[in-house]
Amino acid sequence: MQNSKKLRNWLEAFGLDHPLVIAGPCSAETQEQVLKIAHQLKDTDTTVLRAGIWKPRTRPGNFEGVGALGLKWLQEAKDQTGMLTTTEVANANHVDLALKHDIDILWIGARTTVSPFVVQEIADALQGTDKTVLIKNPVNPDLALWLGAVERFYSANVQNLGVIHRGFSTYEKTKYRNNPEWQIPIDLQNQFPDLPLILDPSHIAGRRDIIFELCQTALDLNYDGLMVETHYDPDNAWSDAKQQITPQTLDQMTVDLRIRKKGD
Ligand code: PEP
Ligand code: MN
Repeated sequence: MQNSKKLRNWLEAFGLDHPLVIAGPCSAETQEQVLKIAHQLKDTDTTVLRAGIWKPRTRPGNFEGVGALGLKWLQEAKDQTGMLTTTEVANANHVDLALKHDIDILWIGARTTVSPFVVQEIADALQGTDKTVLIKNPVNPDLALWLGAVERFYSANVQNLGVIHRGFSTYEKTKYRNNPEWQIPIDLQNQFPDLPLILDPSHIAGRRDIIFELCQTALDLNYDGLMVETHYDPDNAWSDAKQQITPQTLDQMTVDLRIRKKGD
């Protein structure tokens, strides 16, 4: 990984000499599930445990998350494993609850980044915080919306920012669930060169078999980290079952990607 200026800020605080790995289930399902995955991930290269507890589903009738209850599970996972935690926040109330439960990193989902008033509300709720906030690209391939969200957080004096590239929806069916459109994050980086850039291959792929190649492309492009959906029983996950990989697969992937040297 290049030693760019951005690695001198919050990312450097993790003491990493390799890209940041964030992993965990799409959704927190039960306390047992969160703790089991956390323990399986703690001996991998994963620094941050992810789990969605408020799930903005595109259509109603799907699992919409366990809600605030899951914050306690994440706290417990952190206490037991020492991993940092992250979850999605989609309004100011989520922010208050997540801060009260000491969640380390907050992420803004793709369905939230499209909405300037909601982004502003969340940025206001985080005014001046030193929490790290990761902003996913909007669902649609609109660089300005993504830039606008970054600007709203910077204007609210949230300095520890990063962005997550999770692909862009298209009406046409392609091999991807969300088209990567690699040029868009490159253009964003040209405007904010110090902003750490993380790939979410899971929501780009929508399937397990191309996660590796997406991660490889991102590392070739000097991305600063990966956020990979991981579940011990992917087929039976309550959301995004097709795209989740097991902690064992993730572990091997970090070896194959040369993030971790065999035997380390
Ligand atoms: C997620 O990370 O599970 C999620 C809902 O992501 P996105 O906002 O990228 O769709
Ligand atoms: Mn998901």
